[in-house]
Amino acid sequence: MTGTTEATLQLDRLDGVLAEMFARRLALHEQAGRDAGRTWARLARHVDVPDLVRQYRASLGLVETRSEEDDEHEAIAIAAARSALHRLADLVFDEDEADDFDRLRRTFETVLRSGRAEGVADAVVMAAERLDKLGQHTLALDFKIAFEHAYAALERKAEQLAGESGKWLSDILGGQARDVGALLARLTREGASYADMVRGVSDLLTDADARAVQTVIDLMTSRSMSQGALDLYASEGIGQVDFVTAGDDRVCPICTDCEIKGPYGVGESPTPGIHPHCRCVLMPTSVLSATTVGAYLEGGP
Ligand SMILES: [Zn+2]
Repeated sequence: MTGTTEATLQLDRLDGVLAEMFARRLALHEQAGRDAGRTWARLARHVDVPDLVRQYRASLGLVETRSEEDDEHEAIAIAAARSALHRLADLVFDEDEADDFDRLRRTFETVLRSGRAEGVADAVVMAAERLDKLGQHTLALDFKIAFEHAYAALERKAEQLAGESGKWLSDILGGQARDVGALLARLTREGASYADMVRGVSDLLTDADARAVQTVIDLMTSRSMSQGALDLYASEGIGQVDFVTAGDDRVCPICTDCEIKGPYGVGESPTPGIHPHCRCVLMPTSVLSATTVGAYLEGGP
């Protein structure tokens, strides 16, 4: 890219509009983590953990004569956890229990929609600032107005967002199944009782801050922010984007590499978040038009 150090954001020395943008993005991550984590934990209470542990222990009895390898135990536990977790989807058909599933789906859709709207708003406000500096634009740089217009415009994509939320939920189910598997294999090694296993798995599954849950929510939030920006760039005919890291000493080698290899064609760039807690953004190499920016900052697109 043209002048990595120039484009890099240097978060610790940010002021004004950029600092506001990053504070907004961080707040959105935190809110998504809280809301989606809580609704997940509520849904996960429906997992039949005693049955899961019984299935696991029964399967173990069958294989104990063959092998007592940890990873074999883990594979069996993962399979038991996966089948128990996937039964959560059946709750949709249960009139009394469908609420928790619906609540989770709605929360995910809100996270996805807010992320996209934030991605658009950030791109618009950054462009407005660049236009201001070029002396072409004098509109107030208002994230809130740009966000609200972008959020309203996403009503048209409601169905698409609903489809995406299913993909992220399945990532959570997969991640939780792997972690339950590792936990059961460890408890088996330690000679834990049936009751200990049930308690351990229940605690892990209903923890709103569980690693697998929060990792997926964080990625879901960053990727939707990137997608919002990319959709806007594509519709406005932006040809290329820079991959821009936060530029401080916490930036990882993978993201630094992504930054160095840019600019990229729109649709060909690596999409932040590259990993959980990735702060990178995609910025266009050319500035969005004053008309586009004005539409979001005045009457809505
Ligand atoms: Zn990154």
